[in-house]
Amino acid sequence: MKVYYEKDIDLKPLTKKTVAILGYGSQGFGHSNNLRDSKVNVIVSDMKGGKAWEKAEAAGFKVFTAAEAVKQADIVMVLLPDELQADVYKSEIGPNLKKGAYLAFAHGFNIHYGQIIPPSDVNVFMVAPKGPGHLVRGEYTKGRGVPSLLAIHQDPSGDTKEIGLAYAAGIGAGRAGIIETTFKEETETDLFGEQAVLCGGVTSLMLAGFETLVHAGYAPEMAYFECIHEMKLIIDLIYEGGISNMRYSVSNTAQFGDLTRGPRVISDAVKCEMKSILKEIQDGSFAKEWILEKKANMPVFNALTRKGEAHLAEKTGQNLRKMMPWLQKEKLVDKSKN
Ligand code: NDP
Ligand code: MG
Repeated sequence: MKVYYEKDIDLKPLTKKTVAILGYGSQGFGHSNNLRDSKVNVIVSDMKGGKAWEKAEAAGFKVFTAAEAVKQADIVMVLLPDELQADVYKSEIGPNLKKGAYLAFAHGFNIHYGQIIPPSDVNVFMVAPKGPGHLVRGEYTKGRGVPSLLAIHQDPSGDTKEIGLAYAAGIGAGRAGIIETTFKEETETDLFGEQAVLCGGVTSLMLAGFETLVHAGYAPEMAYFECIHEMKLIIDLIYEGGISNMRYSVSNTAQFGDLTRGPRVISDAVKCEMKSILKEIQDGSFAKEWILEKKANMPVFNALTRKGEAHLAEKTGQNLRKMMPWLQKEKLVDKSKN
């Protein structure tokens, strides 16, 4: 598999173009600030009168409605919430796209599941950072980058790959590695990763551990440190040198428990459930459920989010973090700015 790095990439094709970043949220904040620091001409769009609009202006960007930004742009990067993109495309993006423009995404959902169907004379690519937008910015400012995926959906101009690579390098991804993929592969693996492992799997695993200890009569504070807080320290070791690196660092007792008990927690029944989750992604039933959820005004999303926020683990963590003021310094997420 070919991996592209900064040295393989020419940024010049990008510096002659105007890039409109639609949505100054997590990814929008990262992409726009990094591209500007890479000497690219960037304009930003967000909701008029909204907080993000003010944040973007305070950061020195020219901010427009989506329709106004698209009219001026050669490259339009859509960093709106996935569930809103199709509506905004219909009303503001599609009708204002310049001929020969490049339409870009950071996730393939709307193209892959046919929610957005751009005309054949528009170039379509994806640059999907494999990390949250705040990290895309944080790593860039440290001279580093977040690895990203590049995919080309349609290429009437014949140079969409060069433009896509330059864009990816502009946000700093060329420092860490850019891998070429397809919209299908990115969409399906990304959804699976976040559902089964990264967001869904990990949080359910931590909460199940926390609840098991608390129900057995142990203090919630103990349970929190053991099953939730310490996760980061373990993950840092894996991030740095893989699973064996983590096993080298923990005690032999921990390693023996890991090797013999881990596969019992993630049992065949769990793997079977993972397969069903993947199937729902591949056959479009997850996409349909999520699109209908949005249409119904997010009843399940809102109820489960509130239930999660009220969990004893969240309150316990809040109190424990008050005693660790250093955690509040150098935060990636500063809600007043990004
Ligand atoms: P966010 O929800 O953080 O940001 C979206 C922004 O768009 C918000 O500021 C929102 O404003 C604004 N917005 C909403 N409607 C409009 C509109 N009509 N016109 C202009 N602006 C509008 O999104 P993310 O950054 O999380 O996601 C963006 C894309 O990046 C998605 O495709 C996602 O899948 C992808 N992605 C996200 C990752 C992440 O870590 N977050 C990782 C990799 C890819 P308001 O808040 O006022 O509604
Ligand atoms: Mg993801």
